[in-house]
Amino acid sequence: MPASRIHCSIDFDAPGLHEGFLGVSHSDNAHAYGVIPVPIVCVNNGSGPTALITAGNHGDEHEGPIIARNLLAQLDVNSVNGRLIVIPALNYPAVLNDTRVSPIDAGNMNRAYPGDAAGTPTFAIAHYVESVLLPLCDFALDLHSGGKASEFLPCAFLVREGNDDFLARKIAAVEAFGAPDTCVVAGTADQRSLSAAADRHGVVNMATELAGGGTVNTQAVAIGEAGTARWLAHTGVYCACKGDVAAPTRFLRVRDRNDFVMATQDGVFQPNVRLGDTVKRGDIAGWIHPVADATTPAVPHHFSADGIVLCRRVPARAIRGDYLFHLGSVTDAASLLAEAG
Ligand SMILES: [Zn+2]
Repeated sequence: MPASRIHCSIDFDAPGLHEGFLGVSHSDNAHAYGVIPVPIVCVNNGSGPTALITAGNHGDEHEGPIIARNLLAQLDVNSVNGRLIVIPALNYPAVLNDTRVSPIDAGNMNRAYPGDAAGTPTFAIAHYVESVLLPLCDFALDLHSGGKASEFLPCAFLVREGNDDFLARKIAAVEAFGAPDTCVVAGTADQRSLSAAADRHGVVNMATELAGGGTVNTQAVAIGEAGTARWLAHTGVYCACKGDVAAPTRFLRVRDRNDFVMATQDGVFQPNVRLGDTVKRGDIAGWIHPVADATTPAVPHHFSADGIVLCRRVPARAIRGDYLFHLGSVTDAASLLAEAG
C-alpha cells in the first residue's frame, strides 16, 4: 500500500494525552493550499493493548461524537493501561456539513476502504485509517446511528465475519458492550466498510446504531456511554465502569432481503408499526399515499417475514426503492457461532 499523504500532528508513541489533527491535504477554489484538520486524540499510558474509537464516520449521526467527546472529558489518563485513540469526527467535512457523505467529494466514509492515498479527502482518510491506524490496533469501536434517513432501535452492531476464534472475540466484545439489543448482519462481498477494514487487520471490531433521525436521542447516548465504558474495560485499556456488568444483550439477526420492506412506489409513507414491535409475515408495515390526487387509495406495504422492527425510514416522503423498515429475528451467541460460513 502506498504511504499516506496525511500528516498526523501527534506522536502515537508519546506518553500521556495528546490532542491534534490529521492534516488532509486538499486544494480547491476556496483554499489553494492548506489541510482539512480532522481532530484526533491519543492517550498512551502503560503497556496494554491499543483501542480505537471512531465516530462521525457519517456526518449526520450525532450520538457517537457526543459519546466520544464526553469520554475524553471524563478520562483519567493515569488509569489508562495501553493506548486509546479517539477520532470523534472521522469524516470531518461531512460532520461540519451535517450530512451523511462529504460535501467535498460526495464520499461515503463507510464505503471508502481501503481508501486511496492519492484520492479525494474521504478516500485519503480511509486510506490513513486502514494503512496507519488499524495496524496499531487490537480493538476498534465505530459509533454510528441512523442519521437523518433512518432510526434504529438503539443497538450494538456486529458483522458476522471471520474465523471461529475471531468471531468469538467479536461476539465477546458486543456482549461486554451490553446494549439492550445487538444487530447482527452477514459479511458481504462489499469490503469497503471500516468493519471490513478492521477484519482485514485482525482488529476485534464492533459498531453501534444508536437511534438516529438527525437529532440526538438521550436514551441512545446513555446506552452508548455505558456500553463504551464496559467495552473499554473489556479491552483492558481503561476501566471506569466500576464493575458494571450489563444485562445480556438480545441478538437480532438480519437474515436476508425478506427482512426489508421496500417502497414499491413514490408517495408519503404512513407507518403502521414502531421500533421494537414484534410483527408477523403479512402484517401491514404501513401505507404509501400517492399525492397527485385526492382519491387514489393508499397502497399497503406488508412485511415478508416474522421479526422485530429494528430500523425505520425517518423522512415521510419515499420513492420506489427506498427501504421503509427492516427486521431482525432473535438468535443467540451460540447459534451465531454455529452458523455455517
Ligand atoms: Zn453510519
